[in-house]
Parts: sequence; C-alpha cells; structure tokens
Amino acid sequence: EISACLVGSEMCIRDSPLARRLAARRSPRRQAGRIRTENEPSHGLPTDTQSIRQAICAKRVRQDAAPQRTMLHFARRRKARGNREEPERMREHPQIAIDGPAGVGKSTIGERVAQRLGCLYIDTGAFYRALTALALGAAIAPEEGAALAALAERAAIRIVAPTVSDGRQYTVLAGEHDLTAELRTLAVEAAVSRVSSHRAVRTALIAHMRAMAEDATVVMVGRDIGTVVLPDADLKIYLMTSIEERARRRHRDLVAQLGAMAPPFEAVRDDIARRDAIDREQMRPAADAIPINNDHLEPPETVELILEYLRQRREQAAQISLAEE
Ligand code: C5P
Repeated sequence: EISACLVGSEMCIRDSPLARRLAARRSPRRQAGRIRTENEPSHGLPTDTQSIRQAICAKRVRQDAAPQRTMLHFARRRKARGNREEPERMREHPQIAIDGPAGVGKSTIGERVAQRLGCLYIDTGAFYRALTALALGAAIAPEEGAALAALAERAAIRIVAPTVSDGRQYTVLAGEHDLTAELRTLAVEAAVSRVSSHRAVRTALIAHMRAMAEDATVVMVGRDIGTVVLPDADLKIYLMTSIEERARRRHRDLVAQLGAMAPPFEAVRDDIARRDAIDREQMRPAADAIPINNDHLEPPETVELILEYLRQRREQAAQISLAEE
C-alpha cells in the first residue's frame, strides 16, 4: 500500500521500492505536478507528516490538487467505458458511490455528504447486517447460502429516514419490524461477513439497493457500489485508510464506549485484518473511482474534497451540454 499526499503540485509518497519506481517514472507530459518520495529534497515544500497534514488542511492545497485528480479520474472513466468518445452526461438525480474497506469512515463521510446535498443516504452494510440479524433470529447458520438468499428475497428490507431520535443515521425495516438496534450486536458483527459472502444473498439484496437508487439522488456506501451495484454511478470514490490508523480510530471509540472493558489494540487490529480478508472479494476499487487516502484528513476535509469532485463533475457535464446546444 502506498500512502500519498498531495502537497501543492507535488505528490509526496512514503518511501518504498514501489514508490521509488513510480517517482522514477514521472514524466512532465503525464503529470502536471511531480512525484517525490519522502527522502528526496522537498524544494521548500514540507516533508514531515505534521506539516503535510497542515498543508492538506489549507484549502489552497486541495484546490491545487483537485483538478489534477479529476482529470485523471475522467480519463479513467473514459477507459472504463471502452474509450467511448460520446459525452458523459450526469443524471438529473446523480448517484454517488463511496466504497472502501471496514473502518475507513465511509458511513460518517457518506452521511455528511448526503446531508450537504439534501439527498438519500444508503448504507449498504445495513442490508447485510439486517439480514444477518434476521437469520440469527430464525436460527439460519451463516453457511446456509440458499436459506439465507430465500430469507433475503422474502424479507422486505429497506432503509428509511430515522423514525426515532436516538442519534441513529437511519431506520432499517424488515416489513414493519424495526431492526436498527440489532445491527451492531457482537453476534451480527461476528457473522455478517460470512452471510454476505454468498453470491445468491448478494444478488437478492443488491436488487433492493438498486431499486432505492432508481429515481432519487443518492449517496450509497459499501464495498462494491462502483463496481457492481451502481456501475454507472456519476461519481465514484474509493476511501482508504491504513490498517494501523483504522485500528487506532476503532480502539479509541471502543475505549470511549467501554472504558477498561475495551479489547486491546492488537485484538482490534487483528479483527479488522480478519474482516478485510473475508471482504477482499468485494473490495476491488472500480477502475474509474477516485481514490482518497484519509489517513491525514479529518472527516470534514474528506467531505469537502468529495463535494469539490462532484462540483467539477457537474461543471464538466454542463460544458458538454453547452457545447451540444
Ligand atoms: O460497512 P459495514 O461494516 O456495516 O458492513 C458490514 C459487512 O457487510 C461487511 O463486513 C461486509 O461483509 C458486508 N458488506 C458487503 N458489501 C457491501 C457492504 C457491506 O459485503 N456493499
């Protein structure tokens, strides 16, 4: 994994053999900015993590960095669409896909982006969690793929705006039964990755997800939104955070919740690694997704970055419409 930061027009990447190969390959024609490894001279730009972080926090840096990233993203989109030259329009109700592994802050970021856009927020993990809670109640084991898929088809799982003000992001219903309080129990946590690994289960639940995104602006978060659920999404983001940083954040939350009863840091890190391994199949980023490493970004900064990408995407679509008129 390469950790990269955009600093002004330079990209600073943590030193590693791969990083050095990338830095050697830079070409002024391909890259408006420059890539350098941490150990190269900085030409007056900051090198230590703290200063890089401060620089990233300054809006100036994001404004410099975003156009380069967006151009790269649009080029990837064209390639993913078979280099078709026809113009890219945006839906009247855009679909925004945010993918990434467990613990990268997808739900916090997704909810805030949806709030800023005043649109629907769909956490697809909640579908898999709801099905797992139902299966546990019906004594269906996580290995029983066919029985789980049948349950997924008949249980009308849906996500609606919060029906109770207890700080929840949304309410999850199966028919009229409110499952929200059962989504994050230890039993669900332990079984959900195995439940969601069955192809038939995914097919059944993905149909529900797509139906929700049909005629509404949505921010949908998960693992395979940009690749499988909404492959034509108008904006695709792939969030990444190093495993150490994810474990640190999760451990901090657990200590705040459980105090001395919180599991040790190593156990939290191992649990995240275990879930990554099971989820790996679904975790491939879409070829045209914009990667964002948020190791050094606070949630509001990541939200701003995503809104900036969306603004640029809208601008591009508007220019295309103007050119056609
Ligand atoms: O995102 P969250 O941790 O709530 O997801 C719970 C589980 O649901 C994940 O560990 C993964 O196994 C599964 N999941 C999935 N595909 C998605 C979203 C979640 O397989 N799009």
